[in-house]
This record gives sequence, structure tokens and C-alpha cells, in this order.
Amino acid sequence: MAYSYEAPVSQSLFDRASVVTPGGVNSPVRAFRAVGGTPRFMVSGTGPYLTDADGREYVDLVCSWGPMILGHSHPEVIAAVQEAVSRGTSFGTPGEGEVALAEEIVARIEPVEQVRLVSSGTEATMSAIRLARGFTGRAKVVKFAGCYHGHVDALLAAAGSGVATFGLPDTPGVTGATAGDTVVLPYNDLDAVRAAFAAHPGEIACVITEASPGNMGVVPPADGFNAGLKELCAANGALYISDEVMTGFRTSKAGWYGVDGVRPDLMTFGKVMGGGFPAAAFGGRGDVMAHLAPAGPVYQAGTLSGNPVATAAGLAQLRLLDDAAYAKIDAVSAELRSLVGEALTKEGVAHTVSAASNMFSVFFTDQPVRDYDDAKKQDVFRFTAFFHSMLEQGVYLPPSAFESWFVSTAHDERAVERIAAALPAAARAAS
Ligand code: PLP
Repeated sequence: MAYSYEAPVSQSLFDRASVVTPGGVNSPVRAFRAVGGTPRFMVSGTGPYLTDADGREYVDLVCSWGPMILGHSHPEVIAAVQEAVSRGTSFGTPGEGEVALAEEIVARIEPVEQVRLVSSGTEATMSAIRLARGFTGRAKVVKFAGCYHGHVDALLAAAGSGVATFGLPDTPGVTGATAGDTVVLPYNDLDAVRAAFAAHPGEIACVITEASPGNMGVVPPADGFNAGLKELCAANGALYISDEVMTGFRTSKAGWYGVDGVRPDLMTFGKVMGGGFPAAAFGGRGDVMAHLAPAGPVYQAGTLSGNPVATAAGLAQLRLLDDAAYAKIDAVSAELRSLVGEALTKEGVAHTVSAASNMFSVFFTDQPVRDYDDAKKQDVFRFTAFFHSMLEQGVYLPPSAFESWFVSTAHDERAVERIAAALPAAARAAS
């Protein structure tokens, strides 16, 4: 497919980057491999808008893959960062900011009795799994196909493939031995979980799941799925780990826990809680967290964990996320979902707009999507045409058909109007 528009400055930056960095990017999906064309190098962001190196402005529906829930350069977050930076950038000692951020998390999310701060969602899930193994004295981990938990070796098994393949590495570099302790099951299938517990009695340390998946596109848990996982874990002496890196502090004030009320043993967080800086966390039951060093024997550490600038940004962002903020985000999300649905329907394009609270994505299929296999049946070529038309018209969507779209409190009427104006041509391009 040829694209008529150009981004010469981004292209020359991408050329430079490709010499010194594999694939020209520091995280693969940024390279536009799935959709083709020139990845946009962004230079600034304000509210719901991003500006690229060629001086073009876009309405941003990626929001840095979730974190920027107040939009870009929110004045109160920037002020908190400036104040923190003026006092220094890292001390490698405890500091009040990290205590305040931990208190905010514990206050919002009732099952979290204690929390440990780290720097990325990957670290959070990696550490939660180590803790679950240390606590239970068991080795095996159950995860679901299509759920992404960061690039932790043990969790990359079938992170991007369909039906479970026992013990086979999904990426070179993950050894068979590592993947051999990972049991990958189809999402939304409690019978498969029951069968796994029956096949591995006394061996499964934990079941980890995205609280509501957004990494195969948005595929919410079926009614009772999370509750069933919790029950099966409790009955079999395993821990239930809810990965809220994406949903946490986004899908409600208390994340997905605030939506379904299923009480995990451990939870992981990232994205929104860092206010655009590298801050993440894992936490949960006090008796489990007490196994972490230095209180307990399970080791986990980080030079920049609880970094004062990151914690200041995260805390400022969380404190602005009150009920009114969530009502606003929910309303914008609902409006966009209906606008996208109407435009695609008008052009006769088969689609399913799938939502979990204010997270949503568009599958280019009219068949129900309950797991990764279903998600992969969509027509990604239609998505690609849709994506590029939107991009050309100044709307920045995730450059993959298997990602959630994100909105922020800054997505105002003007931003929504710009998206609405772009939709008819994009829907035509996808038809
Ligand atoms: N868990 C979930 C559900 C995620 O969506 C992600 C990232 O997208 C991660 C974990 C990994 O987080 P990070 O990219 O900060 O390492």
C-alpha cells in the first residue's frame, strides 16, 4: 500500500535511529512494522495533542500507551515535577514522596495492604511472580494466550500466539526450561484452568491474568471469569495475580478491581501511576508481601525504585483523578465508540467496537471476540487502511489492530470534533 503524504523529518530521524538502534526504536510496536509507513517522531504534547518533528499536530488516542490520562503537559503534573527536580533527581535512600505514593495506592485499592515500587510494569510482574513462587514454594505459572505482562522471560511464552503450547519458547532467548514452567491457556476458558490444576496438582504457584485484557485488543473477561480464577486459585493453594498495569487507575478510581470487585492476592501496576515517568508497583496481601526482602527471604531491588521525580509525577496525577475525571473519560470514550461504530456501519465495514470501562478498541470483524484466536480473525488490512487515513487526517491511533485506544480528561469537544471529521474518510478507506 502506498501512502501519499510524507513526514521527511521523521523519516530522516528514523534513518538515523535505524543505524544505532535495532529497528530504529526502543520498543518494537513504535516502528509501525504492522501498518507500514514512517513512524512519527514526536517532539511535544499538550492536552490531547501531539506534534511531530515535521510540525504536524495529531489528536492522540494512544496517550503513551495509557499513562497520559490527564493529557500531555498537565500544568499541575509539570509543576510537581519541576518542584521535585529542583531538589535533586535521585538519592538512593528512602524519601517521603514514595511513602505518599504508596499510601495513595493503598488508600484507593482495598486488597493492596502493602506495595513495593519499581520502575516498569515488566519489573512489577516479574517480581510478583518471583514472590508468588517464593511464597508457595511452587514453580509453575499459568498465563493466558494474548495477555501481555511485559517482556518477562517466563511470561513471553505464547504472549502473542494463539492456542496454548506447553513449554515452547515464543521468542528466541527464552529457554525451554524457563517456558517449561509456564502453562499457557486460552483466555476466558475456566474449564482449561480447571484442567491445568488437575494436570499439575500442587505445582502451580499462581495464575496471572490481565485484569481486563487490552493487549490482544480490548477483550473483557466474561461474566464470572475473574471470580472463577480466584476461586480455583484459592481451592488449589495458588495465588491469583491481577495485572492492572494497563487498567489500574484508568478503568475506575480503583482500576478494574473497582469494576468487578474480585479480590486478588497480588496486583501489578504501572502506566498511569507514573504520570509519564517510569514508576510501577506490585502489592497485595500483607502476609504475602512480608516474604519480600528485607522483611523476608524473596529478593527484589532497584537503584531507581521510588525515584523522587517519578513519584512526584505519579502522585500529582493520581490526586487529580477524582470521580469527575473518570466520569469525563468514560463519557468521551462512549462518544468516540459510537462515532467510530456509526462511521464504519455507514460504509458497511464489518466491525466490533469492544470496550472495558473507558478502554476500547475496534476489531475489524463482526464476529464476537472472546479470546486471542477470535481477535486474530479480524481483517488487519482494513485496520491498516483505517489507521493511515486517520493518521493522514491528524489522528494518532495505536499502530496495531491488537491494542487498546486511550482517551484522557483533556479530550475536549474540539478534539472529538476533529476525530469525528476524520472518521468518514477513514471508514471509506477501510471499506
Ligand atoms: N502488563 C500489562 C497488562 C501491560 O499492558 C504492560 C505494558 O504494556 C506491561 C505489563 C509491561 O509494562 P512495561 O511496558 O512498563 O514494562
